[in-house]
Amino acid sequence: QSWFAGVQMGPPDAILGVTEAFKRDTNPKKINLGVGAYRDDNGKPWVLPSVRKAEERIVAKQLDKEYATIIGVPDFYNKAIELALGKDSERLREKHNATTQSISGTGALRIGAAFLSKFWQGNREVYVPTPTWGNHVPIFEHSGLPVKKYRYYDPKTCGLDVKGCFEDISKIPEKSIVLLHACAHNPTGVDLSAEQWKELSQLIKKKNLFPFFDMAYQGFASGDVDHDAQAVRIFEKDGHLYCLAQSFAKNMGLYGERAGAYSVISASKEEADRVISQIKILIRALYSNPPINGARLAAEILNDQELRAIWLKDVKTMADRIINIRAQLKGNLVKLGSSRSWDHITNQIGMFCYTGMTAENVERLSKEFSIYLTKDGRISMAGVTSKNVDYLAHAMHEVTK
Ligand code: PLP
Repeated sequence: QSWFAGVQMGPPDAILGVTEAFKRDTNPKKINLGVGAYRDDNGKPWVLPSVRKAEERIVAKQLDKEYATIIGVPDFYNKAIELALGKDSERLREKHNATTQSISGTGALRIGAAFLSKFWQGNREVYVPTPTWGNHVPIFEHSGLPVKKYRYYDPKTCGLDVKGCFEDISKIPEKSIVLLHACAHNPTGVDLSAEQWKELSQLIKKKNLFPFFDMAYQGFASGDVDHDAQAVRIFEKDGHLYCLAQSFAKNMGLYGERAGAYSVISASKEEADRVISQIKILIRALYSNPPINGARLAAEILNDQELRAIWLKDVKTMADRIINIRAQLKGNLVKLGSSRSWDHITNQIGMFCYTGMTAENVERLSKEFSIYLTKDGRISMAGVTSKNVDYLAHAMHEVTK
């Protein structure tokens, strides 16, 4: 008799399933549009030149491997929050931020969920957009915070459901937590405009909600780290108290290094000190302290003028490739005479494009063309290159005729 005979087999991960099917396929024209990591125009992972340089410098320093503090490497997390809020942030100058290093963006969200689960005094519900990144729901639920939805994406326009979004958020009970994708919404690629963010900021203030920003793509969306931080900075300027999860997986290509940060923007330095003291207690029990290598790499880049300049160029290289390939994909579909509007391919931003293709279309793409993506019709633009964009457009046109 085993202790775990009653444990049932869990369902496989939706995205891993796409990759498995892709690997089994022997068609030389096959394309994997499931992966959520940047690829260069040859379809290969890209280690940023700025990261390579930072790596060389760190190796040359012959640093030791001692533990970081519970909240990580100060040269990293202090610069991380500065990257988000900007050098002129009054809040930072007055030290109203309780900031800790985290195990990338996921870890930041998880620490935030644990902190709010223990200390949130308002309505214990987290409101997330429909759809949202698949991991948001389990992250909050694992921490004992029930998740509810607000409307966000409009399948009719493949854009923002402005009316639905504002209507739903205006009906959220006071003192609830509302999760916002700061830029490059995953999975839809649909973001609010600056004007819409300003309006939303006022609404959230009026309704007395607590904004929880998830910023996993700063710089990766537009190619400009300041532009991509506009939502957070609008809320900052409007005087909100909020929290923020940051990831350096995409914008520095540090995926497996797990470099991220979590901040609670508090009412005073004294409050921030109390908050971080409790966050330390939570982290100590979760994983004791974070990994040092990714944080050292990011710190080297963020603290050094020369490396930082190279990095800003690297970020733009990635964003520009994605923006250009979006234009090519759309252009090809128009040239092929598709009667559909594909404007959303270029209106959407970031790693992903919510194409509006149905599960049936997606199935035909895999069966007839060896093109693999998730059933919701989401394409990872990183998987599209100048070499396969013609074939992809042809296939998309055929299955959506
Ligand atoms: N949040 C969103 C919206 C994401 O898309 C991702 C990654 O895909 C993350 C957070 C966290 O990623 P990581 O833990 O790799 O930083």
